[in-house]
Amino acid sequence: MAESSLIFADNLPVSPLQQLHSPFLDSADVQLFVKRDDLIHPQFGGNKWRKLKYNLQHAHHNGFNTLLTFGGAWSNHIYATAAAGKHFGFKTIGIIRGERHQPLNATLSFAESCGMQLHYVDRKQYRQKHEASFQEKLIRQFGDAYILPEGGSNSLALKGCEEIIHEVNNQRQQPFDVICCASGTGATLAGMVSAIRSEKSTHKKQAMGFSALKGGDFLSTEVNKYLNTDITENPHPDDWKIESRFHFGGYAKINDDLIQFMHRFKSQYDIELDAVYTAKMFYGIFELIRSESFKPGSVIIAVHSGGLQGNKGFNLQGLV
Ligand SMILES: *Cc1c(COP(=O)(O)O)cnc(C)c1O
Repeated sequence: MAESSLIFADNLPVSPLQQLHSPFLDSADVQLFVKRDDLIHPQFGGNKWRKLKYNLQHAHHNGFNTLLTFGGAWSNHIYATAAAGKHFGFKTIGIIRGERHQPLNATLSFAESCGMQLHYVDRKQYRQKHEASFQEKLIRQFGDAYILPEGGSNSLALKGCEEIIHEVNNQRQQPFDVICCASGTGATLAGMVSAIRSEKSTHKKQAMGFSALKGGDFLSTEVNKYLNTDITENPHPDDWKIESRFHFGGYAKINDDLIQFMHRFKSQYDIELDAVYTAKMFYGIFELIRSESFKPGSVIIAVHSGGLQGNKGFNLQGLV
C-alpha cells in the first residue's frame, strides 16, 4: 500500500459548517448550524469515517493489511469500512448478523462490490462479537486482521470524533453553545465531550446526544465508559446529556410524521437526512426550539453524521 494514500487529512475535505435559514428559524431566538460530515466523502463520509480514521492509521502503522468488523445487514459501519478499506488499500472482512439473503440488499451488495468478504453468523454467535475466544476463532479462520468493533466504536474512534469540535472551533469566530449528534453507541458523543473538556475556554459548551434507540438512558452509562468517568462521582455533568424522547418507537422504527419531516427538511434546506439517525435528531432539535428549550440567543451546531445509504432499507419515495 502506498504510504501517501494514508495522509488522510490531505485527501479529504474539512466538512462545511452551514447555517440554516427559514422563516421559523429566523424568527426563533437561536442560530442553527449543520456540520456537514455527510459531505466528507460520498461513500465513507459521516461519523463512521470519523471513527475509522485513527483506527486505519493505527492498523497501517502496526502492519495490518486486513480489517475485520461486525454489523447488521443495513449497517452504515459495514458500508463505510468496505468503502474506506478499498480506498486506502485494506482487505476487508464483514461478519454479518443473520442469514445470507439473495439477492443481497443494497448495503451488502455495495460492500461486496468494494471487495469486502462477507461471512454470516447467527444471532447467538453474533452476540459473542466482543469475546476474545470468538475473535481468535475468526482470526484462525480468516487470517490475521485488525478487528474493529461493531459501529467502529472504541477509544481511537473517540479521537476522530474529537476533531469535529476542533474543526467547528476553527470555523467560527464566536464559541457555540450546544452541539448535537445522533447517538447509537454513544462514542461520537463521548468524543465530542472529551474535546470540550480539554479546551481551555471559559465559555460553557454542552454536547447533546439524541438517542436513535428506545430506552436511550442506557447511553449515559456507555458514554461514561468511553470517557472513563465514574458516574457516581458526577451523576449530572453539565457539559453533556442524552435526549431520549425522539426515538420514534425504537431503532430503525419510523412513522409518517418522521417521513413528512424528512421531506419538508429536504425541500426547505436542500439537505437529505437518514431515517435511522439524523432525521430523529433534527426532529428533536426542532421540537426543542419550538418549545423554547434552548437558552435565548443560543448558537446550536447539529452534526450531520451521514448514513444516507441506509434509507434504501425503507420505502421512501423521493428520498435517496
Ligand atoms: C452510527 C451512526 C450514528 C451513531 O453513532 P454512535 O457513535 O454509535 O453513537 C449516528 N448517525 C449515523 C448516521 C450513524 O451511521
